Amino acid sequence: MQILHPFAGSVQQYIEQLDNPDSCRPGHCPQCLAKHPLTAHGFYTRTLIDTAFDGVIRVRRYLCQTCQRTVSLLPEFVLAYLRSSLSVIALFLIARLLLTQTLSNAAPPPMPYQRGQFWIRRFRAQAESLCAALAALTKPTPAPDFVHRALTMLQATGWVAAHRFLFAGVRCHLLGWPRGLAPDGRRAAFSSAAAPA
Ligand SMILES: [Zn+2]
Repeated sequence: MQILHPFAGSVQQYIEQLDNPDSCRPGHCPQCLAKHPLTAHGFYTRTLIDTAFDGVIRVRRYLCQTCQRTVSLLPEFVLAYLRSSLSVIALFLIARLLLTQTLSNAAPPPMPYQRGQFWIRRFRAQAESLCAALAALTKPTPAPDFVHRALTMLQATGWVAAHRFLFAGVRCHLLGWPRGLAPDGRRAAFSSAAAPA
């Protein structure tokens, strides 16, 4: 199971504090609800593309001694199963879908065409349910469609705050869970591994 690392800071600051297993050790298990602090259980690595970082980061794992399941602590600036950081995806979606009328701010960060189209497709499919979920955090604004409304609500809430609420509170992925995963992000039976995009 993946939960969010309650960490606010840059990628570099995240990397620097990662060697201390106590800094964010969960005090209880989110899966079986045992009230024991979890045991540090190594790391896995994943690629990350951020505005000022392109490389591999480690993600810390903990083990619950009661149910013997692992929990990984995903930093808040990344989205599960996506290589690019939340801010890179946010900048791109805002530039391409929200600011398309204004020329000055409309240049999206450079990126492979296919990847940008993939995000846009996923965001469009997800927009209506995002509007419904985010109504718990911010007032829905008048907008021509769900895509514009969802983007405006994300801007009003802050993307990281919205992501934290969606992921931790309602197990909703900002761009939708990949095919093959159950709605709450747990791996469904008989699924093939979803490649990060
Ligand atoms: Zn447990």
